[in-house]
Amino acid sequence: MICADLHVHTFYSGDAHIPPRLIVEELHAHPFLKAAAITDHDAINGYFEAKRWASDYADVIIIPGVEVSTFEGHLTILGITETPNRPLSLLEAVDFARENDAVIIVAHPYRVMGIGDLARNIKADAIETCNGRSSKKENKLAEELAKSLNLPGVGGSDAHRREQLWTAYTEIDASSTDINDILAAIKHGKVKAVMHRQNNG
Ligand SMILES: [Zn+2]
Ligand SMILES: [Zn+2]
Repeated sequence: MICADLHVHTFYSGDAHIPPRLIVEELHAHPFLKAAAITDHDAINGYFEAKRWASDYADVIIIPGVEVSTFEGHLTILGITETPNRPLSLLEAVDFARENDAVIIVAHPYRVMGIGDLARNIKADAIETCNGRSSKKENKLAEELAKSLNLPGVGGSDAHRREQLWTAYTEIDASSTDINDILAAIKHGKVKAVMHRQNNG
């Protein structure tokens, strides 16, 4: 069982303050949470920098991703190491993810910048049902959306500052710690969203 925070921002997101190195060190120091997806807003450099620091630690797993800003709202794509050409629509972002055989996660659907019910029009792999910066109500609505679409729920802190790290995470039943096996397990719904520490709401 791998515990992964699937939604973390570094200072490569214009609105976040966390150095990639700190994320790696915090994972190494954590008793059970050893994996994180770096999901900067329309940026990939934070992932590469975190991955470089993680090469010093055998226990730390860094998953590549981008939180893509579409016209309709945010969409998290895991397993990509490049950003799509901006600006783009939700459906173009979905196409980009599929072309790259990536994992599509509907981030905080019912918070500001969430795509809300538009999630029903796309073929996502998972819904973010535990977002550390969403209210209880917003996460509850996301959970109902996941249920009605028969999609797995995943969790991530959506941390923009150090103290927000690991508020929510995902238990992943992957066959190995290889990134491809982790992404496949998410696609196959072998996941459970966990709210570790409610920040608000
Ligand atoms: Zn977002
Ligand atoms: Zn985010």
